Amino acid sequence: MLDVQLTQPKAIRHGAKMPSDFIRVDYDRCSYCGSCVAVCPQNCATLHESTLLIAHEQCTLCRRCLPACPTGALSLASQPTR
Ligand code: SF4
Ligand code: SF4
Repeated sequence: MLDVQLTQPKAIRHGAKMPSDFIRVDYDRCSYCGSCVAVCPQNCATLHESTLLIAHEQCTLCRRCLPACPTGALSLASQPTR
């Protein structure tokens, strides 16, 4: 029998970071509470003068910040590939 999961790329099977994926911030929803900053194990989410910044190069897409956000301002997004 064909195992469909074995045909998928390793990165997708394990939920690992894909080059085009990133954490998107909806600044209309963000209340700058700092909850995502507190849970980020990479310290890549930071608040600077009431602006939330995410260092995408350091982000491992662990997704811990998503449920930590009380306003639903964070989401996993993908850039269109060409
Ligand atoms: S996905 Fe993980 S590493 Fe990336 S900003 Fe959120 S908590 Fe930090
Ligand atoms: S947890 Fe949500 S509301 Fe709070 S600073 Fe992060 S993105 Fe903004």
